[in-house]
Amino acid sequence: MSDFNRRDFIRIASGATLATGVLGFPGLLLAAGPKVVIVGGGVGGCTAAKYLRKLDPRIDVTLVEPKAAYTSCFMSNEVLSGDRTIESITFDYEGLKRHGVKIISDRVSVIDPEKKQVVTDGGERFPYDACVVSPGVDFKWDAIEGYDAEVAETIPHAWFAGKQTVTLRKQIESMPEGGKVIIVAPPNPFKCPPGPYERAAQIAMYCKHHKPKAKILILDPKDAFSKQGLFRQGWSKLYGFGTENSMIEWVGAAGGGKVEAIDPSTMTLQAEIEEFQADVINIIPPQKAGKVAFASDLVDGDWCPVDKMTFESKRHPGIHVLGDASNAAKMPKSAYAANSQAKVAAAAIVARFNGLEPGDPTFVNTCYSILGEEHGISVAAVYRLDKETNVIESIKGSGGLSPMDASDEQRKREVTYAHSWFKNLIHDMMG
Ligand SMILES: Cc1cc2nc3c(=O)[nH]c(=O)nc-3n(C[C@H](O)[C@H](O)[C@H](O)COP(=O)(O)OP(=O)(O)OC[C@H]3O[C@@H](n4cnc5c(N)ncnc54)[C@H](O)[C@@H]3O)c2cc1C
Repeated sequence: MSDFNRRDFIRIASGATLATGVLGFPGLLLAAGPKVVIVGGGVGGCTAAKYLRKLDPRIDVTLVEPKAAYTSCFMSNEVLSGDRTIESITFDYEGLKRHGVKIISDRVSVIDPEKKQVVTDGGERFPYDACVVSPGVDFKWDAIEGYDAEVAETIPHAWFAGKQTVTLRKQIESMPEGGKVIIVAPPNPFKCPPGPYERAAQIAMYCKHHKPKAKILILDPKDAFSKQGLFRQGWSKLYGFGTENSMIEWVGAAGGGKVEAIDPSTMTLQAEIEEFQADVINIIPPQKAGKVAFASDLVDGDWCPVDKMTFESKRHPGIHVLGDASNAAKMPKSAYAANSQAKVAAAAIVARFNGLEPGDPTFVNTCYSILGEEHGISVAAVYRLDKETNVIESIKGSGGLSPMDASDEQRKREVTYAHSWFKNLIHDMMG
């Protein structure tokens, strides 16, 4: 493609217009091979890597990720019900390599914005013209007394899909009939707002068939949660929620659901008003941006402030922070949100390399939750940026929740849509 045609292509792809003022990368205009280094091979990182290469194949894209394969958190609750295996949600990086992305198996210790270098634990330094950071979340380990990374090996959070997801599944399988599972939900904001409530349903789905007297209790420091009406309705229909024999029980903040401490030796949780004991405990701790964001001075409080036009850090120019680690209000911390943000950031980076200004971004998010074999619910929205406030607002009438009065057939169809969404997203980010 000639330079002229490539510029036209990028303008169309990104909605960008020619810059009239000072360009971020005037020296790179029409130059070959600007370098982008990507930190984290999850949803945001992979999508950005692939789309940078698709938008402008001259760009030299290097992705640094410590794990050999990506295990997706989305759909990992289905491993808990036994509906799928951990292998079915684990994907290698061969697809990205075919797009010409260089994969480096290492962990980034720090990003040096002065020298414009990404430094790894292995001692390598990767210079960049633009850096994309999508490291996901880290936990606030000091929030619940007695709970830390070591205890989490046996009392799993399973909020990063992988070994702990399998541990939790095994614990549920080996729990006695009539046993009790407690899920400790985190405070807002956290990754996947409907996740703990879908998890309760997925565990109940397994118990309904194999341990019908089991109980699943959610202890929650909040008084409301995502898709609450739809969850309560689904739990009622499938697991008797709200009746004496309900398999699922939810205790919110007003009822004393905030957990303050755990004694792992007796499997006892100390909540605000009373103590709870269980056979299986799943604590999902409060969250903040991934460690490398703190090490690289990209945070303000718990999350990374960004200009939502480009997802460029408000703290260090040339570094774009995406996904769960960013403060992308009012988008939720979800895979689809990270995927959408990555495309906006990739288009903005390519525009800048080519002497163009970024176009007006739009974003999309859909979040499915599977409550039973034939019962799915969802929330969807299309978003635009309010440039005055730099807040991402959902466009009125663009999405919404699954209807409360949906037919059984519609609920069943949403399960099919959820599985199809999963396949499409994985393909879009790394296929
Ligand atoms: C149980 C559960 C269910 C979910 N279900 C859904 C769903 O149905 N729909 C949905 O949209 N979202 C869902 N999510 C949320 C979704 O998984 C996240 O929002 C999404 O993965 C965020 O993408 P990300 O790129 O920010 O981070 P991640 O996908 O978590 O990727 C971060 C990557 O960065 C790497 N990394 C971290 N630190 C470093 C470092 N220092 N150097 C190099 N690499 C590093 C990590 O190893 C990881 O591979 C779910 C989450 C959970 C926990």
